[in-house]
Amino acid sequence: MMRRFTGRELLIATHNQGKLDEMRHLLEPFGITVTGARDHDLPEPEETGTTFVENARIKAHSAAKATDLPALSDDSGIEIDALGGAPGVYTADWAETPNGRDFEMAMRRAHDALEAKSVPAPRRARFCCTLVLAWPDGHDEVFPGVMEGQVVWPMRGDQGHGYDPIFQPHGYDLTFGEMDRWEKNKISHRAKAVAQLVEVFGDG
Ligand code: IMP
Repeated sequence: MMRRFTGRELLIATHNQGKLDEMRHLLEPFGITVTGARDHDLPEPEETGTTFVENARIKAHSAAKATDLPALSDDSGIEIDALGGAPGVYTADWAETPNGRDFEMAMRRAHDALEAKSVPAPRRARFCCTLVLAWPDGHDEVFPGVMEGQVVWPMRGDQGHGYDPIFQPHGYDLTFGEMDRWEKNKISHRAKAVAQLVEVFGDG
Protein backbone atom coordinates (compact mmCIF):
# COMPACT_ATOMS: atom_id res chain seq x y z
CA MET A 1 0.00 0.00 0.00
CA MET A 2 1.27 3.41 -0.91
CA ARG A 3 1.43 5.78 2.05
CA ARG A 4 -0.62 8.95 1.54
CA PHE A 5 0.63 12.44 2.29
CA THR A 6 -1.87 14.15 4.61
CA GLY A 7 0.32 16.93 6.04
CA ARG A 8 0.14 20.62 5.25
CA GLU A 9 3.86 21.37 4.90
CA LEU A 10 6.31 19.75 2.53
CA LEU A 11 10.03 20.40 2.45
CA ILE A 12 11.61 20.34 -1.02
CA ALA A 13 15.09 18.93 -0.47
CA THR A 14 16.91 21.17 -2.93
CA HIS A 15 19.19 24.20 -2.86
CA ASN A 16 18.22 24.96 -6.47
CA GLN A 17 15.84 27.93 -6.61
CA GLY A 18 14.51 26.90 -10.04
CA LYS A 19 13.47 23.44 -8.82
CA LEU A 20 11.93 24.95 -5.69
CA ASP A 21 9.88 27.48 -7.68
CA GLU A 22 8.64 24.79 -10.08
CA MET A 23 7.57 22.48 -7.25
CA ARG A 24 5.92 25.31 -5.32
CA HIS A 25 3.91 26.23 -8.42
CA LEU A 26 2.84 22.60 -8.91
CA LEU A 27 1.98 21.80 -5.28
CA GLU A 28 0.36 24.95 -3.94
CA PRO A 29 -2.97 24.15 -5.67
CA PHE A 30 -3.16 21.18 -3.28
CA GLY A 31 -3.09 23.54 -0.29
CA ILE A 32 0.43 22.47 0.63
CA THR A 33 2.93 24.95 2.03
CA VAL A 34 6.29 24.38 0.37
CA THR A 35 9.63 25.25 1.94
CA GLY A 36 13.17 24.69 0.63
CA ALA A 37 16.45 23.37 2.02
CA ARG A 38 17.74 26.92 2.50
CA ASP A 39 14.75 27.83 4.72
CA HIS A 40 15.96 25.14 7.13
CA ASP A 41 19.72 25.82 6.78
CA LEU A 42 20.28 22.28 5.56
CA PRO A 43 23.69 21.19 4.28
CA GLU A 44 23.93 19.77 0.74
CA PRO A 45 24.45 16.02 1.12
CA GLU A 46 26.97 14.25 -1.12
CA GLU A 47 25.28 12.43 -3.99
CA THR A 48 27.26 9.20 -3.77
CA GLY A 49 24.70 6.90 -5.43
CA THR A 50 25.05 5.30 -8.84
CA THR A 51 21.36 5.52 -9.75
CA PHE A 52 18.81 8.35 -9.80
CA VAL A 53 16.74 6.69 -7.09
CA GLU A 54 19.74 6.23 -4.78
CA ASN A 55 20.68 9.89 -5.07
CA ALA A 56 17.10 11.05 -4.65
CA ARG A 57 16.80 8.85 -1.52
CA ILE A 58 19.98 10.32 -0.02
CA LYS A 59 18.64 13.86 -0.45
CA ALA A 60 15.08 13.18 0.77
CA HIS A 61 15.98 11.09 3.83
CA SER A 62 18.73 13.39 5.07
CA ALA A 63 16.36 16.38 4.85
CA ALA A 64 13.46 14.53 6.53
CA LYS A 65 15.65 13.34 9.42
CA ALA A 66 17.21 16.77 9.96
CA THR A 67 13.88 18.63 10.09
CA ASP A 68 11.32 16.04 11.25
CA LEU A 69 9.25 17.02 8.19
CA PRO A 70 8.26 14.97 5.14
CA ALA A 71 10.71 15.85 2.36
CA LEU A 72 10.60 15.57 -1.41
CA SER A 73 13.70 15.31 -3.58
CA ASP A 74 14.32 15.15 -7.30
CA ASP A 75 17.21 13.57 -9.15
CA SER A 76 17.35 13.74 -12.90
CA GLY A 77 19.53 13.45 -15.96
CA ILE A 78 19.87 12.23 -19.51
CA GLU A 79 20.77 8.68 -20.57
CA ILE A 80 22.20 8.17 -24.06
CA ASP A 81 21.86 4.56 -25.24
CA ALA A 82 24.96 4.41 -27.47
CA LEU A 83 27.06 5.75 -24.58
CA GLY A 84 25.95 2.97 -22.25
CA GLY A 85 23.50 5.28 -20.46
CA ALA A 86 26.04 8.09 -19.89
CA PRO A 87 26.03 10.75 -18.60
CA GLY A 88 23.10 9.46 -16.46
CA VAL A 89 23.61 10.37 -12.80
CA TYR A 90 26.68 12.39 -13.89
CA THR A 91 24.62 14.69 -16.16
CA ALA A 92 25.35 17.81 -14.10
CA ASP A 93 28.96 16.72 -13.45
CA TRP A 94 29.71 16.72 -17.19
CA ALA A 95 29.07 20.46 -17.15
CA GLU A 96 31.33 21.29 -14.19
CA THR A 97 34.24 23.66 -14.77
CA PRO A 98 36.39 25.61 -12.29
CA ASN A 99 34.20 28.63 -13.13
CA GLY A 100 30.77 27.05 -12.77
CA ARG A 101 28.61 24.90 -15.05
CA ASP A 102 29.01 24.99 -18.83
CA PHE A 103 26.23 23.01 -20.50
CA GLU A 104 27.35 23.87 -24.00
CA MET A 105 30.60 22.07 -23.23
CA ALA A 106 28.67 19.11 -21.80
CA MET A 107 26.43 18.85 -24.89
CA ARG A 108 29.46 19.02 -27.15
CA ARG A 109 31.10 16.24 -25.13
CA ALA A 110 28.05 14.04 -25.65
CA HIS A 111 27.97 14.80 -29.36
CA ASP A 112 31.72 14.20 -29.78
CA ALA A 113 31.44 10.83 -28.04
CA LEU A 114 28.63 9.81 -30.42
CA GLU A 115 30.63 10.98 -33.45
CA ALA A 116 33.71 9.08 -32.26
CA LYS A 117 31.60 5.90 -32.31
CA SER A 118 29.96 6.78 -35.64
CA VAL A 119 26.55 6.19 -34.09
CA PRO A 120 23.80 6.47 -36.74
CA ALA A 121 20.69 8.60 -36.23
CA PRO A 122 18.35 8.39 -34.42
CA ARG A 123 20.63 8.53 -31.40
CA ARG A 124 18.23 7.27 -28.79
CA ALA A 125 18.22 8.91 -25.39
CA ARG A 126 15.87 9.65 -22.52
CA PHE A 127 15.45 12.22 -19.80
CA CYS A 128 14.75 10.62 -16.44
CA CYS A 129 13.36 12.20 -13.30
CA THR A 130 13.01 10.35 -10.00
CA LEU A 131 11.07 11.94 -7.17
CA VAL A 132 11.36 10.52 -3.66
CA LEU A 133 8.99 11.48 -0.86
CA ALA A 134 10.53 10.53 2.50
CA TRP A 135 9.05 10.70 6.00
CA PRO A 136 11.02 11.26 9.21
CA ASP A 137 10.32 7.66 10.31
CA GLY A 138 12.34 6.37 7.33
CA HIS A 139 9.48 5.37 5.02
CA ASP A 140 9.59 6.56 1.41
CA GLU A 141 7.67 6.43 -1.85
CA VAL A 142 9.35 6.63 -5.28
CA PHE A 143 7.85 8.26 -8.41
CA PRO A 144 9.80 7.89 -11.66
CA GLY A 145 9.12 9.75 -14.91
CA VAL A 146 10.79 9.16 -18.29
CA MET A 147 10.71 11.02 -21.62
CA GLU A 148 12.06 9.05 -24.57
CA GLY A 149 13.68 10.81 -27.50
CA GLN A 150 16.90 11.36 -29.41
CA VAL A 151 20.02 13.45 -29.21
CA VAL A 152 20.36 15.82 -32.19
CA TRP A 153 23.05 18.13 -33.48
CA PRO A 154 23.50 21.09 -33.83
CA MET A 155 21.97 22.51 -30.68
CA ARG A 156 18.57 24.12 -31.28
CA GLY A 157 16.66 26.62 -29.16
CA ASP A 158 17.44 28.74 -26.15
CA GLN A 159 14.25 28.46 -24.07
CA GLY A 160 15.30 25.74 -21.70
CA HIS A 161 18.22 24.81 -19.49
CA GLY A 162 20.78 22.03 -19.23
CA TYR A 163 20.75 19.64 -22.20
CA ASP A 164 17.44 20.89 -23.63
CA PRO A 165 18.92 22.17 -26.96
CA ILE A 166 20.09 18.67 -28.06
CA PHE A 167 17.09 16.64 -26.87
CA GLN A 168 14.20 16.03 -29.26
CA PRO A 169 11.40 14.12 -27.54
CA HIS A 170 9.75 11.25 -29.38
CA GLY A 171 6.79 12.42 -31.48
CA TYR A 172 7.91 16.07 -31.72
CA ASP A 173 9.86 18.06 -34.32
CA LEU A 174 11.12 20.54 -31.74
CA THR A 175 13.88 20.14 -29.19
CA PHE A 176 13.09 20.87 -25.53
CA GLY A 177 15.14 24.03 -26.08
CA GLU A 178 12.77 25.21 -28.82
CA MET A 179 9.58 24.49 -26.89
CA ASP A 180 7.66 27.02 -24.92
CA ARG A 181 8.50 26.45 -21.26
CA TRP A 182 4.88 25.74 -20.28
CA GLU A 183 4.44 23.31 -23.14
CA LYS A 184 7.60 21.46 -22.10
CA ASN A 185 6.62 21.42 -18.43
CA LYS A 186 3.34 19.71 -19.34
CA ILE A 187 4.95 16.78 -21.19
CA SER A 188 8.38 16.36 -19.59
CA HIS A 189 9.86 13.50 -17.56
CA ARG A 190 9.35 15.70 -14.47
CA ALA A 191 5.67 16.29 -15.36
CA LYS A 192 5.16 12.52 -15.56
CA ALA A 193 6.78 11.96 -12.16
CA VAL A 194 4.76 14.80 -10.59
CA ALA A 195 1.52 13.40 -12.05
CA GLN A 196 2.16 10.22 -10.04
CA LEU A 197 3.24 12.08 -6.94
CA VAL A 198 0.05 14.15 -6.65
CA GLU A 199 -1.95 10.93 -6.45
CA VAL A 200 -0.75 10.55 -2.85
CA PHE A 201 -1.98 13.96 -1.70
CA GLY A 202 -5.13 14.47 0.35
CA ASP A 203 -7.39 11.89 1.91
CA GLY A 204 -8.02 10.29 -1.45
P1 IMP B 1 20.45 17.04 -10.47
O1 IMP B 1 19.14 16.31 -10.55
O2 IMP B 1 20.31 18.37 -9.81
O3 IMP B 1 21.52 16.17 -9.91
O4 IMP B 1 20.95 17.40 -11.95
C1 IMP B 1 20.31 16.94 -13.08
C2 IMP B 1 20.90 17.55 -14.32
O5 IMP B 1 20.21 16.95 -15.40
C3 IMP B 1 20.64 19.03 -14.45
O6 IMP B 1 21.74 19.79 -14.07
C4 IMP B 1 20.38 19.22 -15.95
O7 IMP B 1 21.57 19.47 -16.61
C5 IMP B 1 19.92 17.87 -16.42
N1 IMP B 1 18.49 17.89 -16.65
C6 IMP B 1 17.52 17.35 -15.89
N2 IMP B 1 16.30 17.60 -16.40
C7 IMP B 1 16.52 18.34 -17.50
C8 IMP B 1 15.63 18.94 -18.45
O8 IMP B 1 14.41 18.88 -18.38
N3 IMP B 1 16.24 19.61 -19.43
C9 IMP B 1 17.58 19.75 -19.54
N4 IMP B 1 18.44 19.23 -18.69
C10 IMP B 1 17.90 18.53 -17.67
